[in-house]
Amino acid sequence: MSEKRIRINKSKCISCGACIATSPNQAIYFDEDNKATVDPKIVEVDDEIVLDVCPTEAIELHDFDVEKKEYKD
Ligand code: SF4
Repeated sequence: MSEKRIRINKSKCISCGACIATSPNQAIYFDEDNKATVDPKIVEVDDEIVLDVCPTEAIELHDFDVEKKEYKD
């Protein structure tokens, strides 16, 4: 089974932190390069809110394989 989950295009991320502020469960965090990254296994992220906050449209929806716990594309 697959479903749409968010993924961050790091080349577009300007490290503003807006998406992280919408993620109190720490599903989104800064990686070692100070770019936002998301743990797709944590499903409590509200996709619609997160998609709206990014000023550079770096947050995208991708197909996620729920059983394999990995993106399909
Ligand atoms: S809101 Fe967009 S630009 Fe800002 S940290 Fe998140 S992904 Fe990067």
